[in-house]
Amino acid sequence: MNDDGTSARRATRVSFEVETLVPTVHGEFRFRAYHDRVAGTDHLAVVSGDPSGPGALVRVHSECLTGEAFGSLKCECGPQLDAALDLIAQHGGVVVYLRGHEGRGIGLLNKLRAYRLQESGLDTLEANMALQLPVDAREYGAAAAILAELGLTGIRLLTNNPDKVTQLEEHGITVTERVPLIVGRGDENAGYLDTKRDRMGHQLPGDSRPNPMSP
Ligand SMILES: [Zn+2]
Repeated sequence: MNDDGTSARRATRVSFEVETLVPTVHGEFRFRAYHDRVAGTDHLAVVSGDPSGPGALVRVHSECLTGEAFGSLKCECGPQLDAALDLIAQHGGVVVYLRGHEGRGIGLLNKLRAYRLQESGLDTLEANMALQLPVDAREYGAAAAILAELGLTGIRLLTNNPDKVTQLEEHGITVTERVPLIVGRGDENAGYLDTKRDRMGHQLPGDSRPNPMSP
């Protein structure tokens, strides 16, 4: 036995509270709600089919009020959540929806402050730094605890963010495959997505900026 305490920490990080069936435009899902004993927030696991066993399709999705409730075009969170729900409805799997992750963890007010600075020409990373905030303050201990509670050990993770894979693995979750989730690119968020690709290591295609080498 070589347990460094990871599994014990996972077992106490969240408490399962309630499960109920919810029909949605994407299909009918089991909504399983958890309380996060460390962050004090509540999270959801949206479950389709029986995801236990190896190779379950999983999206670990950070709450984004502006993108999901209001259809903001400044990010691609809304289309990513929709696409993930469609995929798990079709193939089975889980979307872990993490509350308290607004603005990559800096909160709604600071996210809007960062947007305001972006109007002056800063990119998403520079705006956070100008506010003396972390570029990415999210942590995934609760997500790992929820996946463990669901009996998932080896998952196929829907993400373009290699750091999310690394963080989940550090919390004891084995990611057998990273499945890209390339949706929602448009004129309004092309610069934001380019910054995530070029400065934050996200695996994204395309380049909206003018190419100085082209005529
Ligand atoms: Zn967003």
